[in-house]
Amino acid sequence: MIRKATRSIQKTSHFHVMVKPIGAICNLDCTYCYYLEKEHLYPEGEPFRMPWKVLQSFIRQYSAAHKHLPEIHFAWQGGEPTLLGLDFFERAVALQRKYQPAGCRVTNSIQTNGVLLDDAWGRFLKEQGFLVGISIDGSPDLHDRYRVDKGGRPTFDRVARGLEILQRHKVEYNVLTCVHRHNGDHPLEVYRFLKSLGARFIQFIPVVGRASPTSSAATSISVGAEQYGRFLTSVFDEWFYNDVGQVFVQTFDVALGIWALGQASLCVFDETCGRALALEHNGDLYSCDHFVDPAHRLGNINETPLLALLEDPRQQAFGRAKGETLPRFCRECEVLEMCSGGCPKDRILQTPDGESGLNYLCAGYKRFFTHCRPAMARLAALRKARQPAGQLMQLIQAEEVKARPRIGRNDPCPCGSGRKYKKCCLVS
Ligand code: SF4
Ligand code: SF4
Repeated sequence: MIRKATRSIQKTSHFHVMVKPIGAICNLDCTYCYYLEKEHLYPEGEPFRMPWKVLQSFIRQYSAAHKHLPEIHFAWQGGEPTLLGLDFFERAVALQRKYQPAGCRVTNSIQTNGVLLDDAWGRFLKEQGFLVGISIDGSPDLHDRYRVDKGGRPTFDRVARGLEILQRHKVEYNVLTCVHRHNGDHPLEVYRFLKSLGARFIQFIPVVGRASPTSSAATSISVGAEQYGRFLTSVFDEWFYNDVGQVFVQTFDVALGIWALGQASLCVFDETCGRALALEHNGDLYSCDHFVDPAHRLGNINETPLLALLEDPRQQAFGRAKGETLPRFCRECEVLEMCSGGCPKDRILQTPDGESGLNYLCAGYKRFFTHCRPAMARLAALRKARQPAGQLMQLIQAEEVKARPRIGRNDPCPCGSGRKYKKCCLVS
């Protein structure tokens, strides 16, 4: 595969800001959430609600920065952004219209736990064309393990009601599933359950928490690296043989994009960082959603223009560091072009020869990218040849089925779970 030459991060055109208009405030208390603690970056009594002046300033500057592009995308996150109420977003949409550059389409996405969604939200999200990301970690027993409210109570039923609102109002949505130690051993159960809910766009996010700020160990609820690799490969096989063109799994789409176009559409697998920033409620801009800390605070958009902060040498250095700090073990890795060493926040291990900076998920990435490579190469070739994917997929699937070794129902499952094939990946 030929990967495009390293992209410059000087271009101000392609950057995204994840907006956190309510900071870290949330109505739930998910055990693995990395953002709740960010509340303590601000003084006690801080009103965590983006003031109108900051909202206006951001929308004006962000719109102007994208005026030469066909689309401006606003991504709202938290904490839980729906806690702000509908009126906040009605005002945001009105401001977007006010500052919308001619010929430029405005789109919005919002990430929510779904608990507060009701018909009024459903109508608004549909009318305004929002794409909604809703967090569901699998069936109730898997979901409720860590996704609990402030009283430690389960949330699945409330989230399912939120999903039903989205479906009833025909709001576009995708499901975001955190993969952790508990649901990580149940890839097909999770995937099939999400499909049974009607999900057609799915994102799997590996939970990796560091045991302490300098530790090379992960928290006990983090997904294991091998476990994550098994999870992705199991779902990939199920998807490839049954769901290509019907269900969209972000990691697979990204992998195909790298194969077909030499471009990673997800920063985690891109060669550089620095184009996905995070904006806190008061206008503070940070290098990335995963680096919201004093060392990565670039400034405040009320005091310094957004574009100046984006071009700040510290942010440029942050972006380049991803590639520049890759250990030799990664630079010589045969799946480097797919993986790019993963997200710097997860680079907490040492390589076998003692160099620091190896990704905690390395074993899983290696397993997944090696496993999907033949299928990706073929899909990429089809895409390049502009062949009708559906027809050709049928041919590929038929060939693959023929080529598959015969596996008995009672044999160990080839996905490596350790369970019998019939109890694991066998599709009846
Ligand atoms: S630090 Fe991780 S999440 Fe942030 S831009 Fe880089 S790869 Fe993406
Ligand atoms: S698979 Fe491992 S060694 Fe290879 S690039 Fe990714 S993190 Fe580095």
